[in-house]
Amino acid sequence: MNTDTLHRIKKKAAHLIENRLLKTGRVLEVRKWQPSTMIEIDLHLPQTAMEDWKEVPYIKCKVADLTYRDYTPTGWDAETHTCTLFIDAAHQGPGSKWAQQLNTGDSISYLGTNSTRQMPSPTSSVICLGDESSLGHLLAMQQLTMPQTRFTGAVLMGNEHDRGLFKEYLRSPLQPIARNDIYGHHSLTEWLLERSYSLHDTIFYIVGNNTMVVELRKLLRKQGFSRNQIQCQGFWS
Ligand SMILES: Cc1cc2nc3c(=O)[nH]c(=O)nc-3n(C[C@H](O)[C@H](O)[C@H](O)COP(=O)(O)OP(=O)(O)OC[C@H]3O[C@@H](n4cnc5c(N)ncnc54)[C@H](O)[C@@H]3O)c2cc1C
Repeated sequence: MNTDTLHRIKKKAAHLIENRLLKTGRVLEVRKWQPSTMIEIDLHLPQTAMEDWKEVPYIKCKVADLTYRDYTPTGWDAETHTCTLFIDAAHQGPGSKWAQQLNTGDSISYLGTNSTRQMPSPTSSVICLGDESSLGHLLAMQQLTMPQTRFTGAVLMGNEHDRGLFKEYLRSPLQPIARNDIYGHHSLTEWLLERSYSLHDTIFYIVGNNTMVVELRKLLRKQGFSRNQIQCQGFWS
């Protein structure tokens, strides 16, 4: 059997399996932050039980033929089966392209949801740090932190107008900060060095691009925080 035939058979089998596993959701609303590239998507996911979401979840969305990307639902309401995704579409990629063409009323396909295993510590101060792609994750951490007074942190936003929108529309103690370097670790390092956190009573959650995550983790380790006090989740590199 030649390679082309084998490839065709494999693809057909993958489609058959995919069709059995895929679930369907509906787009309720799309909000494109103007003039930037952040896209907010409200979803109705009737086949998903959100009562179990005690840790930050992620959803595996079909973004193109046999192509999937993970996105983080936030602001979920278990009763109505609704949630919101925040997708950073500043770069070229199938996920970005998919998010850009979504409209109200569209159907979306997803393979399912899973847990990132990240959840806020039950008692310590929760300090969350991330880039634009982690916005949904950081807001999900905020949703899970009780009482909310223990929650704070900073999120990188390259676009000045986005920083304004963030403050105006999202009720969050997170501080939107300018990104002055590609991956944002220098900007977040400056922000961290202007503050002092208790070595005994603080847990950091660092989420987003891998360079930023690795560099901030190194800084916090140098400052004396233990491995258990720094929870990391790398999204892309
Ligand atoms: C558990 C989990 C949850 C995630 N949740 C979210 C989420 O809520 N929102 C979200 O936007 N992303 C999220 N991501 C990242 C997302 O799954 C994709 O990896 C990312 O969006 C890129 O997909 P793409 O197809 O657009 O680009 P790809 O084809 O994967 O990448 C194309 C190029 O763009 C670069 N790139 C990828 N992402 C970015 C970015 N954000 N900014 C600049 N350059 C980039 C890559 O390095 C690569 O060079 C999550 C990832 C994981 C693992």
